[in-house]
Amino acid sequence: MDPQAQSEQVIQGLSASKGIAYGQVFLYQQNKLEVPRYQVDPDKQAAEIARFEQAIVVTRKQIAAIQAEVKKNLGEEEALIFDAHQLVLEDQALLSEIVHEMETTRLNVETCFNNVAQRYIEAFAQIDDEYLRERAVDIRDVAKRLLNNLTGQAGSSLRDLVGKRVVVAEDLTPSDTAGVDRSAAIGIVTEAGSRTSHAVIVARSMGIPAVVNVEKATRLIQSGDWVLVDGYEGLIIINPTEATLVRYGKIQEEKRTFESRLLAVADQPAETLDGARVILRANIESSEETGLVRQYRASGVGLFRTEFLFLESPALPPEDRQYETYRAIVEAVAPEAVVIRTLDVGGDKPLPGSPGLIGEETNPFMGFRAIRMCLEHPALFKEQLRAILRASAHGHVELMYPMISGTEELDRANALLEEARAELRQRGQAFDEKLRVGSMIEIPSAALIADVLARKCDFFSIGTNDLIQYLLAIDRGNNRLAHLYEPTHPAVLRTIKQVVDAAHQRGIPVAVCGEMAGDPIYAPLLLGLGVDELSMTPPSLPAVKYLIRAIKLAEAQKLAADVIRETDPKKAFALVEAFYQEHMKVE
Ligand code: PEP
Ligand code: MG
Repeated sequence: MDPQAQSEQVIQGLSASKGIAYGQVFLYQQNKLEVPRYQVDPDKQAAEIARFEQAIVVTRKQIAAIQAEVKKNLGEEEALIFDAHQLVLEDQALLSEIVHEMETTRLNVETCFNNVAQRYIEAFAQIDDEYLRERAVDIRDVAKRLLNNLTGQAGSSLRDLVGKRVVVAEDLTPSDTAGVDRSAAIGIVTEAGSRTSHAVIVARSMGIPAVVNVEKATRLIQSGDWVLVDGYEGLIIINPTEATLVRYGKIQEEKRTFESRLLAVADQPAETLDGARVILRANIESSEETGLVRQYRASGVGLFRTEFLFLESPALPPEDRQYETYRAIVEAVAPEAVVIRTLDVGGDKPLPGSPGLIGEETNPFMGFRAIRMCLEHPALFKEQLRAILRASAHGHVELMYPMISGTEELDRANALLEEARAELRQRGQAFDEKLRVGSMIEIPSAALIADVLARKCDFFSIGTNDLIQYLLAIDRGNNRLAHLYEPTHPAVLRTIKQVVDAAHQRGIPVAVCGEMAGDPIYAPLLLGLGVDELSMTPPSLPAVKYLIRAIKLAEAQKLAADVIRETDPKKAFALVEAFYQEHMKVE
C-alpha cells in the first residue's frame, strides 16, 4: 500500500524504549486463539474425526517429549504433571462426548472440541476438592495445545517474523521478546505494558524503539500498515505524511548527534568532577548482548537475568548447556565481573514449556516466583548452581539470589550452594572457591532486615523494579497505575537509604540494578544516597556516564538530602528533574 494514500493518525502512548522506527506492521495476536466455526457435510464427517485423531497423536507426542525433558532435568515427580495431561487425551468420556457433539451439531472439530472442553473446565473449576479442581488447569493446557495443533496456529510466533517490521501486539511476554529476531523487529508497540515490564526491558537492551500503553493499538493498526514509532515522545503515527517523515528525519539526525556526543566520553572513567569513581555495569538477558557490554564500555555485567535462557525454548536447559552459556559470557566480559542471578521465573515470566512447575496463579507477582520456586525444586536449582560455579573457573563471577525475603531463604539457598560445591569437588570439576555471593533487595521485608542479611552477604543489589512495586503495592506491569509508580516516593527513597546504610555498616557494597539506575534523571540521586554501583541496559550507559562526569558527588549528596526531606513525590521528582536539566548540558 502506498503509505501516503491515507491521512496520518497520531496516537499517544508511553515512551518505553528510546529511538525512532518507521516500517510496516506485523500484527501479533498471540493470545487470541481463533477457533474457526463451520458446518461439515455428512460425507466429510469421517475425515473430520480422522483429523481430530491425528491432532491427538501429534499432541501426545509433544507432551511426551516435554515430559521426557522435564524428567531428565528435574526428576520423576515434576514430570508427573504431564501424566495428567496425557490422561486428558485418553479420557474416553471426554473424547466420545466430542465425537457425539460433532455428529449432532455437524460443526467442525475445533468448535466441538472447544465447546466440550470449556464445559469440562467450568465443571471442574467449581469443584471444592483441590485435586479435582486442578484437573481444570490440565484440561485447559491440553485444550490449548490441541487447538493450536488443529488450527495450525502453533507457528504464530515472533520467531516467524521476517523482514523489518514494527511489531504491534496487545501485550508481549518476555518469552515473546526473547525469541524475536533482533534485526527483524525494528519497533514495538503494545496496548499493555509499562517501563519495567520484562518484555520492555528486553526491547530497551536491544535498542528497539518501543511505545507501550497504546490504547486500542491492535484495532487501530492493521498488518501491513506503515507506522512511525517515536520512542522518545511515546507517539505512534499511522501512515505518516511526507512532511512528518521529513521532520522525523531531522529529529533522528539531531538525536544521533546527541548520542555520538555522549559516546565520545565512553572511554573516559565514570568519575565525578570531585573524583568519586562510580561502577557502571550492564544488565543483560543473553550471551548475544556481551557485544553491547563492550560497545557501551560497561565495567562488566551487574545483572545477568538467567531466566531468559529458560524462556527461549520449551525444554529446560540442562547443566552443561547452562555452563556453556555462562562461560561464554564470563570469558567475553573478562577480566570484568559478571553477576549471575539465579533463576527468576514466575511473575510476568512464566515458563512456556513447563507450566506445571509454577502452575496457574491468581497473583503471580506475589506467587511461586524466583528463589521460592527454586528452593522447592532443589534438583533444578542445584543444576543451575553447579553450572554457575563451573563458569566461575573461567573468569570473575559473582552469584546473586533474586527475591530473598528473609534469612531462612538465604540460608537454604546457601546450603544448596554448598551441596553444589561438594558435588563438583567430588566430580573433580573446578570452580572459584572465593566466589562472592550476594542478594537482591527487592522485597520490603528484606530491606527492613538489611542489617541482618548484610552479615550473610558479600554484596547487595537493589532491584527497584520490584521493590517499588511491592512497597507501593503497584503492579509494575499495570499501565493504569503507571502514574502511581513513583521512584521518588519518600517510602522508596528512605528504603534505599536504609539498605545502603545497613550494607555500608557491614562493609559490603550496594548496587542498584532496577531500571531506575539507567535513567539519568535518577542516577545522581542514587549516588547521593550512597549507592556504589549502577547497572542498566547497555544503551543507557552513555547518558548516565556523561552526567556523572558533569557533577560533583557533593552536589549529588546535597540533592539526595533535599529530596529525601521532601514528602511529596511530585515535588521530589521536580528537584531531581531540575538537577538533571541544570547539569546535563550536551554541547
Ligand atoms: C528489579 O526487580 O529491579 C530487577 C532488577 O529484577 P527484574 O526486573 O528482573 O525483576
Ligand atoms: Mg526483580
